[in-house]
Amino acid sequence: MDTLNPAIVDIASEGLSLSCTATGPQLGLDEPEEKFQGPLTVQLELVHHEGPITVTGTLEGTAIRQCVRCLTEYAEPLFVTLYAGYLPQPGAASKPTPAETPRRSPRRGAQPVEPVEETEEADEVYLYQGDHLDLVPMVREQVILAAPMQPLCREECLGLCPQCGQNLNERRCGCPPEQGPSPFRVLRGRQSKGGNA
Ligand SMILES: [Zn+2]
Ligand SMILES: [Zn+2]
Repeated sequence: MDTLNPAIVDIASEGLSLSCTATGPQLGLDEPEEKFQGPLTVQLELVHHEGPITVTGTLEGTAIRQCVRCLTEYAEPLFVTLYAGYLPQPGAASKPTPAETPRRSPRRGAQPVEPVEETEEADEVYLYQGDHLDLVPMVREQVILAAPMQPLCREECLGLCPQCGQNLNERRCGCPPEQGPSPFRVLRGRQSKGGNA
C-alpha cells in the first residue's frame, strides 16, 4: 500500500492527489466484521500549507453487511467521505534521554491542567512520525465509523419467525402469531421461583 504511504516532501504547496484500489484486508478491514465485494477505490487530496496536512477524499466500493433482523447478507454501495488533519508527533524528533528528565517537584496548590477544549475536528486529527504519512489507519477507522449500527437488508424487513426461525421475507411459516406474554412463560417463571432453593 505504497500509495497510501506518501512522502511528506511530495505534498508540495499545490498539493498531492492519490488514488488507488485496495482490498479490505489491505486496509486492515478484515472479515467477518468487515466484508466487501470487489476492490475499494480510494481517492485522496493532500494539502500542506501552514499547520496540519489536510487530507480529504472518498472511498467507494460495495460492502457486504448482515441484516440484524433476518441475518441475511446483502450488498450495499459504500461511499465514505474521508477527512483528516495530520500533525507531527510532538517530541518525536528529539526525545530527552532518561538522565535529562527533570525530577518532578510536587508544588503545593498546583492545579491540574485544564484539558484543552475539544473541537469537533479533534477526532480527525492524526499524528505522524518521520517523513511519511501512513494513511491506512485513518481510512480504516473512517470506514468503520461510517458503517451502520443496525444494518437492515431493507427498511421493511420482516425478520425471522421467533418460533421456528423461518425467514419471513421468503415465505410465511404458519406459526400462530405471538400475543403478549405467553402463559407458558409465566408458568415457567413461577416454577423457577418456587423450585429447588
Ligand atoms: Zn433483513
Ligand atoms: Zn414460524
